[in-house]
Amino acid sequence: MLKLQHVSKYYRSEETVVQALRRVSLTLNSGEFVVITGESGSGKSTLLNVISGLDTYEEGELSVNGEETSYYGKEDWENYRSQYIGFIFQNYNIIDSYTVYQNVMAALTIQGYPKSSRKMRAIELIERVGLKEQLKQKSSTLSGGQKQRVAIARALAKDAPIIVADEPTGNLDKKAGQNIIKLLKEISREKLVVMVTHNYEEVQDEATRRIRLFDGEVVEDKTLVQTDSAPTQPKPLHQGMHWLEKLAMATRNLLAMPKRLLLTLAISLFIVAVFSFTYGSYIEASSAFDIGSWNPFFNNNDPSRLIVLRRDQAPFTPEELAEFQSYARVREVIAFDPVLELRLGLEDTWSAYYVLPSASLTRGDLREGRVPESAAEIVMPREAAIPIGETVRLTFDSDRYYRDPQEANQPSGMVQTFTVVGIHAARYHNYIYLHREALEHPLLQYKAIEQHVSLLFATADKTAEIPYISIRLDETLEENTVHIGQRTFSLLISPEYFNTPSLTEAAFLEQSYALSILHPLISEEHLTTVHIDTIFSQGQFGMPAVVMHPDLFATLFHLDSSQVTLVVEDSFDASRVMAALDQSTYHTIYPAEYQPMEMYLFTIFERLASFIAVFFQLTVMYFLTYLALRNIMRARKRDYVIYRSIGATQKDLNQITILELIGVFLTAFVIMYVLWAVNAVVETPIPNYLRYYTLGNYLFAAGLLMGLAFLLGLRFNRKIFKDSVITALRTE
Ligand code: ADP
Ligand code: MG
Repeated sequence: MLKLQHVSKYYRSEETVVQALRRVSLTLNSGEFVVITGESGSGKSTLLNVISGLDTYEEGELSVNGEETSYYGKEDWENYRSQYIGFIFQNYNIIDSYTVYQNVMAALTIQGYPKSSRKMRAIELIERVGLKEQLKQKSSTLSGGQKQRVAIARALAKDAPIIVADEPTGNLDKKAGQNIIKLLKEISREKLVVMVTHNYEEVQDEATRRIRLFDGEVVEDKTLVQTDSAPTQPKPLHQGMHWLEKLAMATRNLLAMPKRLLLTLAISLFIVAVFSFTYGSYIEASSAFDIGSWNPFFNNNDPSRLIVLRRDQAPFTPEELAEFQSYARVREVIAFDPVLELRLGLEDTWSAYYVLPSASLTRGDLREGRVPESAAEIVMPREAAIPIGETVRLTFDSDRYYRDPQEANQPSGMVQTFTVVGIHAARYHNYIYLHREALEHPLLQYKAIEQHVSLLFATADKTAEIPYISIRLDETLEENTVHIGQRTFSLLISPEYFNTPSLTEAAFLEQSYALSILHPLISEEHLTTVHIDTIFSQGQFGMPAVVMHPDLFATLFHLDSSQVTLVVEDSFDASRVMAALDQSTYHTIYPAEYQPMEMYLFTIFERLASFIAVFFQLTVMYFLTYLALRNIMRARKRDYVIYRSIGATQKDLNQITILELIGVFLTAFVIMYVLWAVNAVVETPIPNYLRYYTLGNYLFAAGLLMGLAFLLGLRFNRKIFKDSVITALRTE
């Protein structure tokens, strides 16, 4: 079945050329037990390697069952070895970390042996070589003779028509050697067995043919026993391994060496951690668009403030508010948002602050003290320098301007008193923090509307420079009247009527554009009289004001919740909540988001820069991981050569390596993120970027790491498969 015609083989080194085989011509048949002898260096191993397709030849022809092999490519040789050849080496070449059973099973699996009968076949083969007792024993603990039996069982597992054995007894004592030879003799009854030995005596009773080499030439070819040669067909090409089998093999490989697994896992964990933290801070950076934000429309553009309005301008129902409150990223709902536009001042000083709900305070925000727990408590800025436990009297900023000069030293009657319970940590921070109940105080809400309205006046016509105008409330006035100071009046009318002393009250109603929002009420006859008089016409600084009864005020500007603030932690949460809200029903405004064009450009550049940084980091990590895992992977080279010699294709092994690496990285990923989630709960100083992660981010991070594992797997395999099987075996 095997025919060599004038086969020559050369080994070329830089200076010399060694001819290891000289025009060898032989015909070998099934049923023969061929022994190749000769002194060391005579070419025995070379001949065996050429026969078994482990090594190439340069001249002549080797044909198998009539098929010539001189044109064979790499894949053809892979198939040839897998179909025809069972190997037995001097140094056994079994996988030490596997049990006897696993070694034989691996061969059967790689061969694509039918799954149903695989186990039975493995046990049968192990029994045949007399290792029934050692079935579950780890191969590294076997004696030399036993290891060689495993190798034989494995070679038989292939059910290949040719068994080659290169000095299989070389490392064994005489008795063990004899047993191996008896086994080979038995096998040769149905196959072709070619065995190399330099000790002919040990086989002379069993061999059917002796071939002696000298200096690469066949100098003797003697048939000792005539055999019948029934041509044996090679087994059909195997189907390849099922991916589940590859997965199982990858898992077995990982678990077979726990120490190696732990080391690989530790390295991967480190890589995953470094990557996750960088990626986390990248997500944080790219989601925090409040850097340098400034907003011309809202006084208060803290990142915790997300304003929501209904598109149909209807008030929110209590059910809607409850639903907002149920969102995980919404800390609190401020049902009446304009209060957050207020400026409150310390009575009798010039310090004024914007108001924020206490729910917007985050861990680490407070320098000392605690978060307000009732309407009477407050957190003050550091710069106010008011110690915890002190009482502060806050007044509405605008009131100070409109106080009657005669009453300058009297309290305005709008003062609220709070106890300081916390000091904010930030420097030059212009906010005070009040409990939600304090923000729901009607007085605060009225004042907020007042200020809100005055803002509207100020922007009614951008061409007219109308100074800041406020509405004042006065319970002593009759309802349904509005009092406007003389000076204010002159400011509110159109410029062409300016300085027209004869202007009547009726003309005012007609001409005043600034008060145009009052018109619907006038037509509905809520407002009956406009008094132009001198009261409050001059505030402390001569600021203009419109004065009315609180009830009229309440009619004019309903205090229902038609604009709410959802208190969120930061811009990231704000964007998530915005995404969750139905944009056809709701209109959302995120004041902190407002950015002038150059800020957008800056942000784009910044993101691009961090993207490049992440990419660069991945590349560095790839090489670091490669260096760190290189030695571990190199130690596996031997296993891989063994797999190849028993018929695993490069493709199968590629996939198994990649599966192993992906498995380790995935495990490291899961461990890392579980630890990180624990970190978030127990509040350690380790940053919790996890809160910025969406499902997409998790998938992306996992995907990138899998990609890294994939590339590493490819690279390792390229290194492992660089050498031919035989050079790889030789260097082992
Ligand atoms: P044997 O197995 O009979 O001891 P080998 O087949 O191993 O002999 O070697 C035959 C000849 O080829 C020897 O001279 C050896 O030095 C040479 N040889 C074998 N392998 C190589 C190789 N990889 N590179 C160079 N020379 C080699
Ligand atoms: Mg040799």
